[in-house]
Amino acid sequence: MFDYRLTEEQIALQKLAHEFAEKEVRPIGLELDHNPDPAKAAYMEPLLEKADKVGLRTMGIPERYGGGGIDDLFSHCVVAEELSWGNRGICGMLLSATKITHILESELCPSEEIREKWLRAYCDDPHFLISTATTEPNSGSENLLPYSAPDSGYRTSAVREGDEYVINGMKHFVSNIGWAKLYFVYVRTDQTKGVDEGASLMMIPRDTPGVSHGRVHDKMGYRLNLNRELMMDNVRIPVEYRLGPENCGVSYIRRHMRGDALINAAAMVGLARAAYEDTLEYAKTRVASGKPIIEHQAIASKIIDMYTGIEAARAYVLYGAWRVDAAWNGVDGKKIPGDPKMSASASYFAHEVACDVTRAAMEIHGGMGVMREIPIEMYFRDAHNMMHSDGGNIMKRLKAIRGL
Ligand SMILES: Cc1cc2nc3c(=O)[nH]c(=O)nc-3n(C[C@H](O)[C@H](O)[C@H](O)COP(=O)(O)OP(=O)(O)OC[C@H]3O[C@@H](n4cnc5c(N)ncnc54)[C@H](O)[C@@H]3O)c2cc1C
Repeated sequence: MFDYRLTEEQIALQKLAHEFAEKEVRPIGLELDHNPDPAKAAYMEPLLEKADKVGLRTMGIPERYGGGGIDDLFSHCVVAEELSWGNRGICGMLLSATKITHILESELCPSEEIREKWLRAYCDDPHFLISTATTEPNSGSENLLPYSAPDSGYRTSAVREGDEYVINGMKHFVSNIGWAKLYFVYVRTDQTKGVDEGASLMMIPRDTPGVSHGRVHDKMGYRLNLNRELMMDNVRIPVEYRLGPENCGVSYIRRHMRGDALINAAAMVGLARAAYEDTLEYAKTRVASGKPIIEHQAIASKIIDMYTGIEAARAYVLYGAWRVDAAWNGVDGKKIPGDPKMSASASYFAHEVACDVTRAAMEIHGGMGVMREIPIEMYFRDAHNMMHSDGGNIMKRLKAIRGL
């Protein structure tokens, strides 16, 4: 049933993304990563402009709004692997088009007018990015599972006053915040209920009065992607910027959106592949104890484990993406029911593989593995950083377990 072959269009996209990663991303990646100022390591307007020019920034937006109309998750996974082979952080930044499409193309979007306004705004402005803000200093993983008790989950409040909501609260660790121009912010519209019964999702344009930005987080790895605090002080938005019914809750919102877990998983495959390729090359040329180190079985067996993990992770991620596409778009006109545990399961597997592979890459590079003149230690940091994003692997496993 599952056809692993790429279509001609997917092969062309793969080539485009690979060339972009090779020519535009890799030459600047390491230097940016080493910038001690986390705000200067991330967000590159010139790179966004270049990505825009070749269509990689807007490929996920429907054609009728000016985008590339690439709708299937499978193609996005193919592209994510190549971009992340260039740099994991840049891949994360560029994929914000997929998120805005998944949100605004869903039934949650209250009107075609709003959908068109913001998807066109995204396409027309090469610097347009979005942020999705869930995490707060006192609640992270529990929002994602979700753990729905009145005294848990995000506390940012939205109180209705006539035709507006008044929003107060704070988020932290949020990707792209401050540079993105539109925020999707998870709020509590009923503080007496848990996040599954008392939460809603709001759209907040960056320049709305009352929005401000706090410190940029200085972090290990994934440095080309910015994480920052968001403060909201009596922020007023029109009621039509609420996505979905009031108090519809986190699970309802998720059910109506195609998740991006598998795109991130594909990105982990690309990151692992970058580490593997460099390591294979190094092992063939580095001579120790009288021969290239690949001829020492202890080294070769580590390299074959790297290869096997990457191939297995890619196959699983792409199969998972195919299943999601089959559930949303159908195959030969027929929708095939999805498997609720598959995306989270493939995602944690790919994350584990990327950590294993980048650790082995460091080890095989000997002392050079921890030197900052080559990207091996950056790959290690990037892989391990991602174990802390999106709930981390403990949460991904727990989500998968719920589907058993
Ligand atoms: C690079 C990066 C990018 C990010 N981007 C965004 C973003 O764009 N938007 C956003 O809103 N947030 C973002 N985050 C935040 C991220 O989603 C949270 O850090 C993550 O969900 C964990 O939340 P926490 O830090 O509060 O950890 P906690 O929830 O405090 O968890 C601490 C530990 O306890 C474990 N734990 C928690 N609950 C349970 C349970 N029920 N059972 C077993 N173990 C449990 C967790 O797995 C973890 O190991 C980002 C984080 C990183 C690192």
